[in-house]
Amino acid sequence: MKKEDLINLIHFSIIPKDDWKQALRIRRFFMAVAVYALCAPLGYVSYLAGVMEWEAIAGLLIIIPIINISLYIFFRTGLNLKQADPSLTAVQMCAAILLVMYVMYFANESRGGLLLIYIIILLFGIFRLNTRSFLYVSVFTLLTYGGDIALLHLYHPQGVNFNLEYLQWITLALVLITFSTIGGYISSLRQNLSISKSQQAKYIEIIREMAIRDELTGIYNRRHLMGLLDYEKNRSLRSGGVFCLAMLDIDLFKNVNDRHGHLAGDAVLRAVATMIDKTLRNTEFCGRYGGDEFLIVLTQTDIKGALIFAERVRINIENAPFPGLGPDFKVTVSIGLSEYQIGEEVDKIISRADEALYLAKKGGRNRVGSA
Ligand code: GH3
Ligand code: MG
Repeated sequence: MKKEDLINLIHFSIIPKDDWKQALRIRRFFMAVAVYALCAPLGYVSYLAGVMEWEAIAGLLIIIPIINISLYIFFRTGLNLKQADPSLTAVQMCAAILLVMYVMYFANESRGGLLLIYIIILLFGIFRLNTRSFLYVSVFTLLTYGGDIALLHLYHPQGVNFNLEYLQWITLALVLITFSTIGGYISSLRQNLSISKSQQAKYIEIIREMAIRDELTGIYNRRHLMGLLDYEKNRSLRSGGVFCLAMLDIDLFKNVNDRHGHLAGDAVLRAVATMIDKTLRNTEFCGRYGGDEFLIVLTQTDIKGALIFAERVRINIENAPFPGLGPDFKVTVSIGLSEYQIGEEVDKIISRADEALYLAKKGGRNRVGSA
């Protein structure tokens, strides 16, 4: 035996721990094994009561372990993964149906009661099989029961009420058709409801992005921006580092809406957001504060650095062409700057930037002011 085989043997667990899907399949398989185990005392009581012949019991004691051990090996070696349905639902159901066929042959008067076992077997298919597969299994069930009746005709014609058997066969057919339809419907409902883990992760990511981004411009929204700003303030408080805030507002933006329409105004907002975003370093961030106002957080930057940055943004926007709005169309912005003072609250640094912006507007617009 190779060393790796020995290690695998020592770490062997009945239900695999590293593959939750396989573990689920094997747990479901053990549920079926439990049902077989429950049937064993039933068989024994039937034998004691003289309803079941001993061949049936003896045969089951051999066939059931063989079937289940083979299935377990099939699952545990991963051979099931090569099948279209790795849960082997239909295979397990058909094996159980064949077993019932065997028992029914020896069941004498209790054959009618044993028909209920088919329902237990079909229940296992409810989460897996569609209506078509259910119907195949149902046809297989009817064939096996029909096979029993034919064999009884051949080898045990005496003592069997064949009219009753035919009636039972027809009743079983009706039950199976109904079961297939309802079972297939439940199965399809379940499949529609269940979405894969990767799809869930994708949707969570989409929702997360929607929660933090401004719908129109795609940059951060005000709520997320305030969270980031609070984080930056606490970081500066701990490390004693410096950072600056830039409040940017588009000049006379109302005129854009009035002259070119709201959609053109939206396009200008998007373009300005993109231009700001492109000017930022990786560690800096910006968001839409509201309307035509944008807030930029310049991390590890003092007021001198912030002035250089703000001038660059202002000039970039002033020189940007807006081909859709005519050759002479220009957008200018005013920017107010404030530098974080150790210990001050977020509201305060924002209101100082706002004040600086107000002064920049008052001073003639298209300029940078600081406070
Ligand atoms: P100022 O230079 O003093 O800032 O003048 P202004 O015309 O830009 O004045 P203000 O900033 O108060 O105007 C903001 C305008 O932005 C008013 C509002 O109609 C417009 N606005 C706000 N949100 C949107 C939006 O999502 N899309 C569009 N197209 N316009 C918006
Ligand atoms: Mg404005």
